[in-house]
Amino acid sequence: MAIKLFIPGPTVVTEDILKELSLPMIGHRTKKASEIQKRISDNLQKILFTENRILLSTSSGSGLMEGAIRSCTAKRAAVFSIGAFGDKWFKMAKTNGIPADKFSSVMGEPTTPEMVDEALSTGKYDLVTVTHNETSSGIQNPVEEIAEVMKKYPDVIWCVDAVSSAAGSKIETDKLGIDVLITSTQKALALPPGMAICAMSKKAYERTAEVENRGLYFDLRTIWDFIDKKNYQYTSTPCLSIMYAMDKQLQHIINEEGIENRFARHEAMAEYTRAWADEHFRVYPNRKYLSKTLTVIDSHPKGKDWMVDVKELNAFLAERNMTLGNGYGDLKDKTFRIAHMGELTIDDLKEVTSAVEDYLKTK
Ligand SMILES: *Cc1c(COP(=O)(O)O)cnc(C)c1O
Repeated sequence: MAIKLFIPGPTVVTEDILKELSLPMIGHRTKKASEIQKRISDNLQKILFTENRILLSTSSGSGLMEGAIRSCTAKRAAVFSIGAFGDKWFKMAKTNGIPADKFSSVMGEPTTPEMVDEALSTGKYDLVTVTHNETSSGIQNPVEEIAEVMKKYPDVIWCVDAVSSAAGSKIETDKLGIDVLITSTQKALALPPGMAICAMSKKAYERTAEVENRGLYFDLRTIWDFIDKKNYQYTSTPCLSIMYAMDKQLQHIINEEGIENRFARHEAMAEYTRAWADEHFRVYPNRKYLSKTLTVIDSHPKGKDWMVDVKELNAFLAERNMTLGNGYGDLKDKTFRIAHMGELTIDDLKEVTSAVEDYLKTK
């Protein structure tokens, strides 16, 4: 029996979707490949609320995060970090030789609109990166408020890491004015890992013309141009198996579950998990900005001065065929994470939380 994953990616992939992975290969330059890729693109636009161009890349989400900051920074990037994944975006800039500054928040706190305004008012930056949902701290950033600030700076390209939230938490890309929104297949989309997705605006595309060394494989301009010229095909051979699975899963999300129902299910799972955490532990981050796709929980059981040994807890859960996430980066062992994204339901969450309660009773 497959182990039930409560980790923030990879998430549980349903049997139906797994079957798609075993379908025969087709030529990636065929009309059929174009048809699949066009349908994927149209459906992703619906889920991400955008008319922007959808670009796919056979890599994990990090590939397009690196591609975005490298392809679209002509002057200097302002990287807003609220944890491990914001820090990673800054490292990508630095290791590619892209001028960038990092603006960090205290762990467990969001990026504020004031921080963004203050940085952009210097006129030094032509690109901003923001993490929508920081998977290490469990924060969902106030992107609606940040969007108001971004409107004051129409020449700045706005990139958003929505890897662990898109398709689980509603993000209205066009309404917010996001230029490059990035996600991966293996989180709330509930697909196997292996492809990165982004929605890119015309404005971001135009900016790439001003950037000299964009690389090739992750150059967003190269990918965009190729899709245009070759009817939704890709510069190199894409992972066709995940394309098949994605095609089917997106149709499931839109036509069977319904996008709004999917968001409501995630919201309900988040509320359940937070309430449970309040009762037995403590929710780690600032409550005003809680993630809808995972809950980061302080490892001290309520009223106790000792911490749960997350490794031991997971060994206990493994006997019941479940696993949850340890804390990430600096928060390892100090917190643990229950992901509630993808195809999980409230009943799944009840199962894992009651197992954690059973574990606590053994102490
Ligand atoms: C998982 C994650 C990433 C990295 O995505 P990969 O697909 O593993 O490259 C980036 N940002 C956030 C917020 C994530 O949760």
